[in-house]
Amino acid sequence: MGESRTSFNDDPEGLVDALGTLIRERGAQHFLTSHRVLPSEASLPDHWTPTERGVWRLTSRLMRYAGLAELGVDIRVVSASVAAGPLDGTTGHTMGHRGAAGLFYGIQDGRAVFGVDLRQLSNVDGVVGTMAHEVAHAWRAHHGLVQEDRALEEELTDLTTVYLGFGVLTANAAYLARSSTQGFLGSAWSVSTGGYLGHDALAYLLAVQSVLRADDRATRGRLADALERNQRSVFLSAADALKSASLGDRFQVNVAPSAEAPPDATPLPDDRADDFGEPTPGTTAPPTAEEVEARAWRTRHAGEVRFRVAPPPPSVGSQRAVVGLAVLMAVTGIYSLATQSASVGRVVLSAAVLLTVIGGFVLWVVKSVPVAHCSDSSCGRQLKQPLPVCPGCGAGIAGDIRSDAERFDAEEDLDPKARAVAVQRSIEAAAALGVTVNKAPRTRYRRATRPASDV
Ligand SMILES: [Zn+2]
Ligand SMILES: [Zn+2]
Repeated sequence: MGESRTSFNDDPEGLVDALGTLIRERGAQHFLTSHRVLPSEASLPDHWTPTERGVWRLTSRLMRYAGLAELGVDIRVVSASVAAGPLDGTTGHTMGHRGAAGLFYGIQDGRAVFGVDLRQLSNVDGVVGTMAHEVAHAWRAHHGLVQEDRALEEELTDLTTVYLGFGVLTANAAYLARSSTQGFLGSAWSVSTGGYLGHDALAYLLAVQSVLRADDRATRGRLADALERNQRSVFLSAADALKSASLGDRFQVNVAPSAEAPPDATPLPDDRADDFGEPTPGTTAPPTAEEVEARAWRTRHAGEVRFRVAPPPPSVGSQRAVVGLAVLMAVTGIYSLATQSASVGRVVLSAAVLLTVIGGFVLWVVKSVPVAHCSDSSCGRQLKQPLPVCPGCGAGIAGDIRSDAERFDAEEDLDPKARAVAVQRSIEAAAALGVTVNKAPRTRYRRATRPASDV
């Protein structure tokens, strides 16, 4: 065991050296001429659904871009809470990511095997970034580049995504993963357990790539446009600061404008289609008029933001008061029955009345305890668990508030980024039901509308 290594996040020179090493090992060709995949229909033309099959299509497309078209792709549904154990018969290490939507198991019988947590597919940017990273794992395993040191291998895998042309995807997802608040909004993407490159390191590598490719202004602007705000500023300032001549010497490449490969739109072989038990798009029976209407109603607030009103549970004191009162009623009733000299029939009848009254009292108290619900007054759907999108009205749930009265203040104080995330999730949830939201038109795979502060 050597001394602990400095993360590339704190070592830009080491980061650039590691890229140089990768280029020496695998050549500069792919790094300098491959299509740089953007979150656009042109780069990722396949139909996206938040399903096993949707992930298969996305992953297969990324595998083609990585030059691994000859490997098949297997997607296995996993639960993120189940630790990524090794899979029998796969080569190389299983690379799991606690809390992430995807993982790479290894290569088995000529197929790259990935795991995916279907409950974490609501955020398209996150899924695309995650699968780009997992495909980079597969590429490194395929070429025998995997390092023993797990944290180092994770950072090199992120670096490899830039080499493969996936840098925009992972840089955007890195920001999502590491900037989200812990808890409700961020639970799905809080993967910053160490061993990953930060969004600024990835943006820096994208700048190195752009300078070495001698990108013209238009090309660089297109890349910048596809990046989230913070990544974009790192990318642009680094690209300005880097000197192409010295960088070319360092990487021993000839810095000259080179034609970037076009997007890959070849149809995917649908060889695994039957495995998913999911009908091919276009072959499903059209929904009935009632279904269409019901879906429209359940998504009527898609593209908007609401909150989950989760009132604090009753205090221990008030719980004791209720129990005490019920006991007192019972004791008084039994006493009065016992002291009555009446027929057995009258005692039974009185007891029945007594129990009904006490039962009714307890039921009334229990029912009056407020239940967590959607803050929309026309909806009010019960939300026992925190959900990203309200199933009753389709609004994005931006967090918890304590009472209905807080909803206007909470809406005003809402962080623009959190709002954008909630809006995007609600639009995607509606899309999964086949409902297109016109309030914020967007194409598949495009990132969320920019937060207001960015306009
Ligand atoms: Zn990884
Ligand atoms: Zn609702």
